[in-house]
Amino acid sequence: MSRPRVRDDVALMEGYHSPQVDVRVRLNTNEAPEPPPTAFVDALQAGLAGIAWHRYPDRSARALRSRIAEVESIELVDEIGGAFTADQVFAANGSNEVLQSICLAYTGAGRSVATFEPTYALHSHIARVCGATVVSAGRNPDFTLDVDAARELILAERPTVTFLCSPNNPTGRLEPPDTVRAVLDAVESVDGMLVVDEAYGQFSPWSALTLVEEERPVVVTRTYSKTWSAAGLRLGYLIGPTWVVEDLERVVLPYHLDSMTQLAGVLALDHIDEMRRRVAHLVEERGRVEAALADMAVDVWPSAANFILLRPRDRDGDDVWQEMVDRSVLVRNCSSWPGLEGCLRVTLGTAAEDDEFLVALGEALA
Ligand SMILES: *Cc1c(COP(=O)(O)O)cnc(C)c1O
Repeated sequence: MSRPRVRDDVALMEGYHSPQVDVRVRLNTNEAPEPPPTAFVDALQAGLAGIAWHRYPDRSARALRSRIAEVESIELVDEIGGAFTADQVFAANGSNEVLQSICLAYTGAGRSVATFEPTYALHSHIARVCGATVVSAGRNPDFTLDVDAARELILAERPTVTFLCSPNNPTGRLEPPDTVRAVLDAVESVDGMLVVDEAYGQFSPWSALTLVEEERPVVVTRTYSKTWSAAGLRLGYLIGPTWVVEDLERVVLPYHLDSMTQLAGVLALDHIDEMRRRVAHLVEERGRVEAALADMAVDVWPSAANFILLRPRDRDGDDVWQEMVDRSVLVRNCSSWPGLEGCLRVTLGTAAEDDEFLVALGEALA
């Protein structure tokens, strides 16, 4: 059989691995523990009857982008001195497709992308798939960003795209406003762009959305996968300067967002009060689980997200992970990831699921 050889650089890639194990308590991928509100599902079912299935979807996803701009402006109008507009919103099939579109438009062979490890593995992966060179700096031992090291890397390598993730996955740490501003200054001085991945932004007390303006090269990406209880939907977006949105429209496939996704995205945002209640509840739950972990033989880092990173003190991370799987509790095993030796990451679930997790962890550590 004759067949083409995959690209040399792609042949060396690992792809994305997160085991989908059949267990009772799944706390490994940071989804919302509850399905979306029934009222949303009912409205979507009714709305499907109105879709013109024989026609291509609205290519510009106008209604969806307007509604996202409106909803994201609610809490920020005073701070940003106005509201975001649809022209500042780019939506795609999950924020991963947003990140990919950014890399397609601004990176590629001969260009570099900066990350600060450990962080969300898909930033460097997507950049490499797009042919870019990834340059990285580490973090402080407590996983805060070393701002001087970050500035040095950016000035030396002049990346076209620099990724921050805030709160950072998998550490849970929020990047303080001064840190983001300092990185943005450095990025701007080398004609680059700063991407702040806020997949968990709603769980944290500060958002880089307050930095978005037409004259600065910064975008913020968000997703329906976590806060909006809609990981099954595949919908994410960015808010940034209009010229970025125009550049991304050049590379994304035409009609990439189907009619159903656009409709679901609009309807989901009618339930913002319910979503806020759920976020508040998960933040409370985070405090409760953190307090329980404080009495166990694990190191824990402060989280501003809907998950917690922990490291068993005297036990091998793989062993503890397996013992928990044996008790039908699945958390994310980060113990072989560079810089995260021995670490596990647990997503906050329902109170009952979190209790099961705490019992299983206690038994695994015993
Ligand atoms: C979960 C997650 C995403 C979400 O990706 P989607 O494609 O929108 O599901 C993006 N960034 C980070 C850091 C995440 O943890």
